[in-house]
Amino acid sequence: MKVKKGDNVLIISGKDKGRVAKVLRALPKEHRVLVEGINAKQKHVRPKREGEKGQVVAVPAPLNVSNVKFVCPKCGKPTRLGYKLTDSKKFRICKKCQSEV
Ligand SMILES: [Zn+2]
Repeated sequence: MKVKKGDNVLIISGKDKGRVAKVLRALPKEHRVLVEGINAKQKHVRPKREGEKGQVVAVPAPLNVSNVKFVCPKCGKPTRLGYKLTDSKKFRICKKCQSEV
């Protein structure tokens, strides 16, 4: 999986299609990513103490990595990522502008 935590991604399917947001967590085993404010599910929180009100909070749910596209921080375009090897070091490169990301 090429997308990492902290990357900006473009959502390409679902109700948040077209939005760009930051990856909060990458879940490589499940091929899923948790993206800030995307795919939010309503969660009902019960009052913990007497006199407190129950609340409805929006919690982002992970979405499949195939539903997002990496957005290059250098050229700002949604792109695919490639890898480049130099002196046993591995870099991710933007396929559009060829810069290291
Ligand atoms: Zn680029």
